[in-house]
Amino acid sequence: MSKVLKPGETIGIIGGGQLGRMMAQSAKRMGFMVGILDPVENCPAAQVADWHICADYTNLKAINELAKKSDVVTFEFENIDAKALKAIKDITFVPQGSETMSMSQDRIKEKHFLESTGVLIAPFSIVKTKKELDVAIEKIGYPSVLKTTRFGYDGKGQLVLKSEADKKEAESLVCNTVCVLEAWVPFEKELSVMIVRNQKGETTLFPVSENIHIHNILHESLVPARISSAVNDKAVKVAKQIADTLQLVGTLGIELFLTKDDKIYVNELAPRPHNSGHYSIEAMSLSQFDAHIQAVTGLPMPKARLLSPVIMVNILGQHVKNSLALRERKPDWSFHYYGKDESSTDRKMGHITILTDDLEKTLKEIEDTNIWNGGIS
Ligand code: AMP
Repeated sequence: MSKVLKPGETIGIIGGGQLGRMMAQSAKRMGFMVGILDPVENCPAAQVADWHICADYTNLKAINELAKKSDVVTFEFENIDAKALKAIKDITFVPQGSETMSMSQDRIKEKHFLESTGVLIAPFSIVKTKKELDVAIEKIGYPSVLKTTRFGYDGKGQLVLKSEADKKEAESLVCNTVCVLEAWVPFEKELSVMIVRNQKGETTLFPVSENIHIHNILHESLVPARISSAVNDKAVKVAKQIADTLQLVGTLGIELFLTKDDKIYVNELAPRPHNSGHYSIEAMSLSQFDAHIQAVTGLPMPKARLLSPVIMVNILGQHVKNSLALRERKPDWSFHYYGKDESSTDRKMGHITILTDDLEKTLKEIEDTNIWNGGIS
């Protein structure tokens, strides 16, 4: 089934966080009606949407109601019950299907899929028991990273094993849930690529972004990434290979590690717009959210053109107060706030996009504000 939505028709979005909000903003610009399913009253996306069903994602009645009221349903996060998505396929159009999402919900399925595409991934072992942990450490060695197979994000559900001393903690993680032990990839840089594909197989590819993390949480994304054109080409090839094998519909964020010898490892897939693509709102001819809406509404996929080099920097809970003061001194920076009612440490509350002609100078300018060093500028 394929369908082209007309302005005035309705897009239902499962999930009402910042990604849903920015999807909704794109959809509204294109003249669509937008409905949100999210359990939080006044969630970020509900503030800009036409209507909001305030209910849990596991509430089948609520998902059915969303489906009945929507001409197409999409989602802003990957941990939705695949059965629920399948169930609404008979009521409404779910162009992305549920397969990509259920694969990305489970690190083991994701790794097996990635292996099947022929891209490079870190060696890994599945670990279900303490005994299997011993065998895995024997095979993978130190340093390595133990990750829960489900519900991990921003480094949550992860443990770096540097030596035997870390084994005790690893054992307690293994006791709670199924894990994978992954070899540590000694990366020089972390990169990502966003690719968006419609049902006809047309794609919009965004430039490779260079990502800087602090405590496993994305801090800055730089575009263009400071990489050679050969590495750029490799990253693009990997992205296309994955999207084609998946027969992707919608948006896929692909997280990569680049090593000293220019090898590219795939770390993780996210079947949705990605934090490292937020720069595209100001710096590209169309944003990742615009492209996502184009794809799920059955429109053709445009070529994404970079209008300016750019740095995106995240505003976490602990940065909000100082970022507000910064607004008064940086009129050329684009400040985004997601409208979250509650702020807490490490919670993503907004981001700033800075168009620049000089990435190094702007990196220094960001550093000099002191906001992200825990200080006050
Ligand atoms: P993830 O939740 O898998 O995206 O991991 C969060 C962050 O942990 C990544 O962005 C990396 O900085 C780091 N990390 C995860 N896995 C590895 C690995 N195998 N080797 C090196 N660093 C890793």
